[in-house]
Amino acid sequence: MRIILLGPPGSGKGTQAQLLVQRYGIVQLSTGEMLRAAVAAGTPVGLKAKEIMASGGLVPDEVVVGIISDRIDQPDARNGFILDGFPRTVPQAAALDELLKQKHLKLDAVIELRVNESALLNRVETRVAQMRERGEEVRVDDTPEVLTKRLASYRTQTEPLIHYYSERRKLSTIDGMMAIDEVTRAIHRQLLALGAVEPKAHSRSAAKAAPAKKAKAAKKSAKKPAKAAKKAAKSAKAAKKAVKKPVRGSKAATKTATKAATKKAAKKAAKATARKAVKKGAKKSAKKVTKKRAKG
Ligand code: ADP
Repeated sequence: MRIILLGPPGSGKGTQAQLLVQRYGIVQLSTGEMLRAAVAAGTPVGLKAKEIMASGGLVPDEVVVGIISDRIDQPDARNGFILDGFPRTVPQAAALDELLKQKHLKLDAVIELRVNESALLNRVETRVAQMRERGEEVRVDDTPEVLTKRLASYRTQTEPLIHYYSERRKLSTIDGMMAIDEVTRAIHRQLLALGAVEPKAHSRSAAKAAPAKKAKAAKKSAKKPAKAAKKAAKSAKAAKKAVKKPVRGSKAATKTATKAATKKAAKKAAKATARKAVKKGAKKSAKKVTKKRAKG
């Protein structure tokens, strides 16, 4: 699987990339991280990038394209990769297209994390505070002034990529204002809908989304693989819809979750009543109660 995560600084690309890495065993290729490592090591690339990065500008296209091209050739990237922070300009995107073509590799999706700009400064401030608490070194460009410049770079140079990939039918937009795990789930659903991941890998996150209902479905599907496949196809379709209409999609998800919770509660109550009845020795009636209430 090969995907690009697109979004302004503080949109959660790095966080989501790490979660996807854990789940799918693919690598995260972050040009920001690679450049920071080059700066720390004092390599020629690092020397070139140091000042530009500290001021919130963009490192020249040919430098980052070169880094990415070499990195994609490494054995650990063979399984797939998540590009985080690259491409950042239209020429970089065009270079990536060319590069992938030469290497006979296909891009599965471009996931855009859309966030309210007003939330970004807060997010970065929180990140800085947490890093300080952990005693980690804080990025020199994580200051309000440089962040403003990074945001401006994003708006003028990176945002046009939304149009670039949407024209090529590669773009999926996810609401990045949701909680971290909800964003992760939305990305999974989208990857599933696109056929970039196997339904099997998805079922783990799905089971987390609505435990009672999904666990039951999983049990059933283990017995009836044909049915499971049908179900997966159905949920893939629903996921596609939800991503297109994030607000309505999330409302529907809440509704389903509420429904599942109500059903679960009804079942629990019915079971408790049944247990009481059994205690009293009325085994027969207990069975009836369970059946009747569980249905509702
Ligand atoms: P963020 O996305 O949070 O701003 P990154 O860690 O992705 O931060 O990048 C940090 C800095 O590294 C950028 O501000 C820029 O100077 C440089 N950089 C990273 N990726 C690229 C790229 N693809 N093209 C040009 N410069 C880049």
